[in-house]
Amino acid sequence: MQNRFLGKNVLVTGASAGIGEAIAFRFAQEGASVAINYSRNDAGAAATAAQVRSAHAEGGYENATVLSHKADVSDESSVLGMFEAVLGEWGRLDVLINNAGIQKPAESDKSLTADFDRILGVNLRGCYMCSREAIRHFLSRPGGGVIVNNSSVHEIIPKPQYLPYSVSKGGMENLTKTLALEYADRGIRVNAVGPGAIVTPINMNWINDPVAKKVVESHIPMGRAGESEEIAAVFAFLASDEASYITGQTLFACGGLTLFPEFRTTWSS
Ligand code: NAP
Repeated sequence: MQNRFLGKNVLVTGASAGIGEAIAFRFAQEGASVAINYSRNDAGAAATAAQVRSAHAEGGYENATVLSHKADVSDESSVLGMFEAVLGEWGRLDVLINNAGIQKPAESDKSLTADFDRILGVNLRGCYMCSREAIRHFLSRPGGGVIVNNSSVHEIIPKPQYLPYSVSKGGMENLTKTLALEYADRGIRVNAVGPGAIVTPINMNWINDPVAKKVVESHIPMGRAGESEEIAAVFAFLASDEASYITGQTLFACGGLTLFPEFRTTWSS
């Protein structure tokens, strides 16, 4: 394991489970101090904090710390409070990972406005508010900063019956590009990761059902779902200086899902 984030402070939203938990662990393995955000799952956040501490101990990162902050990223006062608390504790933030996200299936003609607002609120408005606060801080001191957003293959692939989710990730692409362009000349990089189907609690409907899992995996060119650790590695790369000339991009980590899998065999000519 490298130690690309030694002495760096990283805030990960939605880090009490799934991909966010793996991201927090990965940054800790590479020496970062990590702030864990979550909104409800106290036990999950505590488990992530324990993992972060063990990674620090294993790596011999004596000065690295872990913070935990319960805040709903869709709520502005909670976001402001979180940045106040994290910056109050550390004085400096180097990397923001906008990972918190939710989804809920519904046929669009039967869907509820309240669900649309809630999903956009967490996935997109939350990303906007956290990014804005991070950028304000990055601009307030020398050295710039990095933001990496957790998007999805559904940034570019429509997802029927998950309209608000698809819309939120499509919006995230534009948010990523717009902020990247606006702050490129001030040392701030903004990128996104676009995972495919990853084994996390959000996908419990098919993970524990062997038949459903087989169906999901039959659609993936690489023939398997991804692991959270494989996604966390992409976040670490984009946040690191190895990606110093990359901004405004979404890096898809999806086992080939964005390659139009239906065209694997010749049927069209
Ligand atoms: P997950 O296991 O359900 O974890 C979601 C995380 O977000 C949890 O830690 C949850 O914490 C947190 N969260 C939810 N609402 C929040 C809020 N209002 N404020 C703060 N935190 C909140 O999901 P996941 O699969 O790891 O997904 C993480 C991200 O990856 C999402 O943005 C998702 O769209 C994206 N993604 C996932 C996949 C996949 O296949 N898994 C594929 C593409 C993209 P609490 O429960 O404590 O609120």
